[in-house]
Order: sequence, then structure tokens, then C-alpha cells
Amino acid sequence: MAKILLVIVIAGAVYYICRAYARAVARSQAERAVPRAQATPDEDMVQCCRCGVHLPRSEACVAGDAFFCSDEHRRLHGS
Ligand SMILES: [Zn+2]
Repeated sequence: MAKILLVIVIAGAVYYICRAYARAVARSQAERAVPRAQATPDEDMVQCCRCGVHLPRSEACVAGDAFFCSDEHRRLHGS
């Protein structure tokens, strides 16, 4: 009788772990899919005048007609 109970408990634990794992995998896939869906494919890309990295225009810091990847690079370029 004790062996049957042990098998039931182990089967329940395996089922619970598999369900938690499947949920974690589904959640990580959903998180990975969101940024791709939010990115606008036809947005203009601009180049940072300081380091040359390319980034979407909406994420760039603008100073006059120059674009920068970060506020720090905008400051460094001005000084
Ligand atoms: Zn930069």
C-alpha cells in the first residue's frame, strides 16, 4: 500500500514539475516575441556621431542635426 502511495506522490510531483516548466517556457517565448512585435520595421535608422552605432530614430538623442545613442555621448560630443 505504501508503495502505491509513493508512486502516486512521485507521479504528481513529476506532473507538477512538467507543468511549471511548460509554463516557464511559454512565458519566456512570449517575452521574447513582444519586443519584435513592438519594433517598427520601417523606422529610420540613424548613426551615433560619437561611437557610430546605428539605432532607431525614436530612440536616439538629438542635438541640432546630429544623433547620438545616449545622453552621455551627446554630452561628450559637445565638450
Ligand atoms: Zn554613441
